[in-house]
Amino acid sequence: MTNPPRPTHTHRLGRSPLPAWLDGLHRRDAGELVVHTPDGDARPRPGWTVVAWSDGTVTVASPTTAARVYGPGGVYAQLEQAEAAIARVTELHPPADDWSWATFGCDHGGAHWQLCARCRTCHPCQTTRALVEEPTP
Ligand SMILES: [Zn+2]
Ligand SMILES: [Zn+2]
Repeated sequence: MTNPPRPTHTHRLGRSPLPAWLDGLHRRDAGELVVHTPDGDARPRPGWTVVAWSDGTVTVASPTTAARVYGPGGVYAQLEQAEAAIARVTELHPPADDWSWATFGCDHGGAHWQLCARCRTCHPCQTTRALVEEPTP
């Protein structure tokens, strides 16, 4: 499975020079900046944001989109916070390094090989599973 592209850099267009990561992905047309995006050429105005992505592409965002998606407290920051929270909870529920579990077995048709070190139930435990799927009774 390949990971979907992630934003790697942003640059708000203004007086500062264009970042090096934009090299080869833009041109000037009568002095006007033209950015080569997967959707075709874009002509972002000053105040707009150019976004670099992990797959090597660049896109442009209006000031409102840039603030709401890429800015502090924006959608992407919220995603990173949520992923960090999931990672912290996952870390709190590791499989126990306890192979005596094999002798107790598991009443889910042997689907589980380890205990959750915290919950002492089948791993992945209910808490860990709830991070990736709807809980089932
Ligand atoms: Zn089980
Ligand atoms: Zn657990």
